[in-house]
Amino acid sequence: MKLTVIGFRGGYPGPNEATSTYLLEKEDYKVVLDFGSGGLLKIQNYINVTEIDAVVLSHYHADHIADIGVLQHALLVEAQLGRITKSTPIYGHNENESEFNKLTDDYTEGVIYNPADKLHIGPFEITFLKTNHSVPCFGMRITDGKKTIVYTADTGYQKEWIDFSKNADLLIADANLYDDQKELDIGHMTSTQAAQIASEGNIETLLLSHLPQYGNNQDLVTEAQHIFNGKVFLAKEGLIWEGK
Ligand SMILES: [Zn+2]
Ligand SMILES: [Zn+2]
Repeated sequence: MKLTVIGFRGGYPGPNEATSTYLLEKEDYKVVLDFGSGGLLKIQNYINVTEIDAVVLSHYHADHIADIGVLQHALLVEAQLGRITKSTPIYGHNENESEFNKLTDDYTEGVIYNPADKLHIGPFEITFLKTNHSVPCFGMRITDGKKTIVYTADTGYQKEWIDFSKNADLLIADANLYDDQKELDIGHMTSTQAAQIASEGNIETLLLSHLPQYGNNQDLVTEAQHIFNGKVFLAKEGLIWEGK
């Protein structure tokens, strides 16, 4: 399977950037994990919107869903042009009903996932973990039967991540904070907390994402490398991870 980072910024995008949006592909199946601000703009550098088979949302903060509305409009136009006939499923949790209801439109269909169950979409099996965040949010462990990706979505540190991430090939971790911001406790992790999970979870590759707009993001990598001996990457648009 192949993961392409489309949007990596936390909270809001900087100039010419997007917030949390990740394209995951296997064979011809394409699923988008979260669809943040600038996500639609950026994803068109890689695929056409008509190629999206499904979207899975971790939670309903704007930096993870901001472009759902414009995606719905793009699909409506594609339908009017006769390029699509079916609705695209958008999977979300139902702990915020009014937000969930917005996922259904002329050519999108909101589909509830039960975080206690495994979700099977295309070639992927997804398991969920409730994160430590200000609103209900679910991280995901995604496997194609060969390789495994864990996406923390938005979360403060919690020890549950270690078991949930165990032996994953790739950990896409919320690293919205620098090491010296540990005391902030705002539902996001520091670089070193993300690295702690990677280290204790025996992760192969750590991808630091949901990055802050300030400071030198490269410092996050340096800080993480003090704790974790595996590979560490800083998320950026177009970064590709491939697991075979
Ligand atoms: Zn966020
Ligand atoms: Zn959030």
